[in-house]
Amino acid sequence: MDVGEWNAATAVAVSKQDPKPARGRLWSGAKIRYIRGKFAHLRRNLQRKKRLDLVKRIGHKEKRVVNQQLHIIANEIIAYAKQFEKPVIVMEELKNIRKNMNGSAKLNRRLHAWSFKKLQTYIEYKANLEGIPVVYVNPKNTSKRCHRCGHVARANGREFRCPKCGLVYNRDLNSAANIAHALTRGMGWGRSEPPNSQMKS
Ligand SMILES: [Zn+2]
Repeated sequence: MDVGEWNAATAVAVSKQDPKPARGRLWSGAKIRYIRGKFAHLRRNLQRKKRLDLVKRIGHKEKRVVNQQLHIIANEIIAYAKQFEKPVIVMEELKNIRKNMNGSAKLNRRLHAWSFKKLQTYIEYKANLEGIPVVYVNPKNTSKRCHRCGHVARANGREFRCPKCGLVYNRDLNSAANIAHALTRGMGWGRSEPPNSQMKS
């Protein structure tokens, strides 16, 4: 599982039999972005009018509205996981939020990071109820690494293009695959495809 802004969540499945990412699924972040944009606009107006008491209050309201969306997504993610035999959900350990921001930018940023963390918390909570283990892995290079050959490159826009092996892949699906591989590599499952998959005869 990858969590993010463009796609609120992205899932792929890898199995011992076939470590190649499969059954990719994306949960759009559009609705949450829309809610957040609306509240950011409201906050800016209130700040201009020096109504800081109200700025805080609508922050709480925003969290409630976003929460509803996160619950829906988390439920669907659990249903996604349950289609597999003995699933394990792998997510990245999120870093701390930047502190050197102030005013509405800071609040926007905090709410933003808050929703990523919250979604993970909901997934973990619901997974526990279903007896599905949840594992967190180091987020290093998950968005920059090619899940097929391991080369580290820069993602460009919504697509990941690997200059080494030529892979062209949805950026978030590539990240999700890297997150899964961060766990399965340590279990000796291999990275993605059979080593000879790129050889042309
Ligand atoms: Zn590659």
